[in-house]
Amino acid sequence: MVIFHTDEFVLPLPEGHRFPMEKYRLLREAVARDPELGGARLLRPAGATDVELLRVHTHDWVSRVVGGALSPAEVRRIGFPWSEELVERSRRSVGGTLDGARSALTHGAGANLAGGTHHAMEGQGEGFCVFNDAAVAIRALQWEGLIRTAAVVDTDVHQGNGTARIFQGDPSVFTASLHGASNFPFRKEAGDLDLPLPDGAGDAAFQEAVDHLLARAVEEFQPDLVVYLAGADAWSGDRLGRLDVSRTALARRDRRVVEATIKRGIPLVLAMAGGYGDPVTTTVGIHLQSIRTAFQALRSPGVSIPADWAGPPPPPRAPGLP
Ligand SMILES: [Zn+2]
Repeated sequence: MVIFHTDEFVLPLPEGHRFPMEKYRLLREAVARDPELGGARLLRPAGATDVELLRVHTHDWVSRVVGGALSPAEVRRIGFPWSEELVERSRRSVGGTLDGARSALTHGAGANLAGGTHHAMEGQGEGFCVFNDAAVAIRALQWEGLIRTAAVVDTDVHQGNGTARIFQGDPSVFTASLHGASNFPFRKEAGDLDLPLPDGAGDAAFQEAVDHLLARAVEEFQPDLVVYLAGADAWSGDRLGRLDVSRTALARRDRRVVEATIKRGIPLVLAMAGGYGDPVTTTVGIHLQSIRTAFQALRSPGVSIPADWAGPPPPPRAPGLP
């Protein structure tokens, strides 16, 4: 399995900013030294190109983000100050999901240690999201003829409002989101399946929602690819989540997702999405568990897709050459 990381693309943030930038480096380090992930490859993704972004986002949005011409209100809505580094990081975060999805089509699963920027819409960013990684990845693979359909299984506690809006009216992409009903974004968009949960919902309600999401988005819809937003912010110790879900229930969620996808031959790409645990290592542990679960599923009996990325096969040797 190939795991894409983008943590070297940091952006300058003011002192005390609440975005957990260090989570990404800590997660890559945890993946790199994890004995259970021996054989997985860590790679840096290419950044999404303008052409790839423009299959989802408006020309106006892409050009003003890239050129640093956002209004103060737009910058506030994103939650990051504009910088060249913000543009590069945003491209790479999308690229991680795109490259992870590509590798999932060949190897059964791939992962992005960032991504899950599900609040970004066609012509607007918000909630730490500039470009929508799942949408750009799906559109790229559809455009290249590698997939016809896809499902987005979004279990981050914040609704995937950008993803829902981008794919409204498109029968080729099923958008499913479970989320906190009273949490950000306060104006929800209609996806194909929305499961709002009350504050303090707890394990039983969360598990029931996960099962329902997978039944509709994967078992019924049978997509060619699943993009899984494995948010860590439903955990009871999260500062922003409010759903009061245990780590045991989150681990069960990961197992249910891989049972519905990898183990049935449906390619899965994982994007991490949110996680605001204090200390941040708690969030890293939850994300690591999601990666391990996918990796182990690839190696389980009955899964015919090769578990290891050994690189492309060598070119055939021309007859007569030494
Ligand atoms: Zn979130």
